[in-house]
Amino acid sequence: MAKESKIRTPIVCVMGHVDHGKTSLLDRIRGSSVVSTEAGAITQHIGATLVPIDAIVRMSGALSKVNVNVPGLLFIDTPGHHAFTTLRARGGALADMAIVVVDINEGFRPQTIEALQILRNYRTPFVIAANKIDRIHGWRVNEGQPFLKTFAQQNERVQGMLETKVYELVGKLSELGFNSERFDRVSDFARNICIVPISALTGEGVPDILMVLIGLAQRYMTESLRVSADGPGAGTVLEVKEERGLGMTLDVILYDGTLKVGDEIVVAGNDQIIETKVRSLLQPRPMKEILIEERFERVKSITAAAGIKVAAPKLEGVIAGSPLRVIRGGNRDEVVEQVRHEIQDIQVNLSDI
Ligand code: GDP
Repeated sequence: MAKESKIRTPIVCVMGHVDHGKTSLLDRIRGSSVVSTEAGAITQHIGATLVPIDAIVRMSGALSKVNVNVPGLLFIDTPGHHAFTTLRARGGALADMAIVVVDINEGFRPQTIEALQILRNYRTPFVIAANKIDRIHGWRVNEGQPFLKTFAQQNERVQGMLETKVYELVGKLSELGFNSERFDRVSDFARNICIVPISALTGEGVPDILMVLIGLAQRYMTESLRVSADGPGAGTVLEVKEERGLGMTLDVILYDGTLKVGDEIVVAGNDQIIETKVRSLLQPRPMKEILIEERFERVKSITAAAGIKVAAPKLEGVIAGSPLRVIRGGNRDEVVEQVRHEIQDIQVNLSDI
């Protein structure tokens, strides 16, 4: 393995039935930010939110992060299975892991089942967020607390009700061919899907779901997350946008290597492959500096995994979902061929939907 290889942040997509709480969960994760000057603050990227391991450890109240080398989690801000299936990386899904949100009081609905089928097809590890536990009759809210802490403070009737609802989910998952269990009773993540009872509204259980994702990545994905930090950047275009003063820009999730200002890049256009050169790389400004006129902060380079805005000439006609690849060290033909190949695959996939 190359010396500069490192384990990158896994990319996470949130899926589930409409109104079951996907957006609320993402909002909650974004909002649980500690003071932004503290080390390990949650940061807003382009199209994504980065939650570093320090923030997760702090939220969960765990004593330390001993033996954890996964640096955090990068959440794609767009929830839903359309985002999961259309955002691809080297033929697979861009997201390395997923959260399937299900309203614990409603149970599985058609889009819950669809999400599970998609994740099975892509062999993507996932956890179930059994959401809206605060709606269980008689629930006593303990804002932001880990699940077991808040569970211990509920009366027996409420605890029993939650258990019944979790077992209804276990039964449903079993019908679909998945073994599952409440997360604190799972000893082998490879055999059992973890069900984490949460409330996106009160934040209860949210630290646990982040910890379970870290645990999953740590045990089963570290090799696939190993990237060459200095290698040529590879990413997926989320959106193509015109920005005042910048012209056409690409919002990109970078999943491998490094992207630098001045890099020659290859992306796919409507009817042609486009080669161009990165003029600037932009990130959102931290909230506290929002009064500064320019919305973006310029950076010289960025390393995976990250969300970044790319400004460059000749970006008209770039397709959302296109791969983005960096040309480095005389591999132009190979890179162009890769992009051509991947975009064909994506177009076939899109026509299937
Ligand atoms: P999405 O369609 O899956 O993104 O669902 P939303 O996040 O938009 O949530 C749908 C509705 O459920 C909104 O009115 C939310 O406020 C509400 N909701 C989401 N999560 C919770 C929760 O944990 N508890 C309660 N009581 N309401 C929730």
